[in-house]
Amino acid sequence: MDGKIGLEEHFAHPDTLALSEVYFTADVWPDMRKRLLDMAEVRLKQMDQYGMEYMIVSLNSPAIQAITDKDRARDVARRANDLLAEHVQKRWDRFRAFAALPMQEPDEATTEAYRCVRDLSFVGALVNGYSQIGDEDTAVYLDDRRYRPFWAEFATLDVPFYLHPRDPLPSQSRIYEGHPWLLGSAWAFNVETATHALRLMGTGLFDEHPRLTVILGHLGEGLPFLIWRIDHRLRTAPRGLPAKQPFSRYLSENFFLTTSGNFRTQTLIDTMLEVSSDRILFSADYPFERVEDAATWFDLASISETDRLKIGRANAAKLFKIGGSS
Ligand code: ZN
Repeated sequence: MDGKIGLEEHFAHPDTLALSEVYFTADVWPDMRKRLLDMAEVRLKQMDQYGMEYMIVSLNSPAIQAITDKDRARDVARRANDLLAEHVQKRWDRFRAFAALPMQEPDEATTEAYRCVRDLSFVGALVNGYSQIGDEDTAVYLDDRRYRPFWAEFATLDVPFYLHPRDPLPSQSRIYEGHPWLLGSAWAFNVETATHALRLMGTGLFDEHPRLTVILGHLGEGLPFLIWRIDHRLRTAPRGLPAKQPFSRYLSENFFLTTSGNFRTQTLIDTMLEVSSDRILFSADYPFERVEDAATWFDLASISETDRLKIGRANAAKLFKIGGSS
């Protein structure tokens, strides 16, 4: 399929590059490093070859969220956003951008979100899970009370907020001790991010801001498969749950889910049955995944051509106001 739009696609600023290195062996890293910094050569060639017309580009993970010093988090976020804006302006016909936000200081995050969306024409924000604030062993999640004013302001911008994975803190990873292969994108990313999304739902964030849109990658980090059971059990044992609606309703009405890094038709169909093809968006997770793998799977997946067009392009074109709606 030509004209696909992908939106979990990353780059790195020289100041955040090293934070991706831990996920790769020494033989793979030089190529990954090159692909993270590149916005013109390999990236565009891959896009051309596999029918991806646009990438909405964001910073690597955990990047800003792992910078414990508030001032440095703000400065690096600004520098990374400025660099990304330059890249995007050069190829407005192929790229859009998500803002990196210094959540260590909610007011600064609000200011940066406004600057990126209003002044730099960014189409949303992407935040890598919890933020470390002041010392490395803190994890402040986005349902924390300190973020209430941020969410109120962000909702007025009318752009989506991509909740992207990161690993849990070492001090909160006891279940993974002795099993390092469970960390990162194989498993821990999903558990961390799905739980974070449930925290946002559970605190009533979407009751307060019904038009707020959050995006999850990896076909919803496992939530479509489990959402019925979550609702079912919470009906009989709510344990003081503040949320007013069943979680499945938030998942269907406040969330979009992308195919990033989860190129499996059975899982896609389950996700379509839970949230409908109107709420699913094609993505690769470049450069951590290959555009080739995402596109060759998606282009031939056993779904209707109507659904392929919606997921591959039309839903994202409408959500981000890119290049018409078909
Ligand atoms: Zn990603």
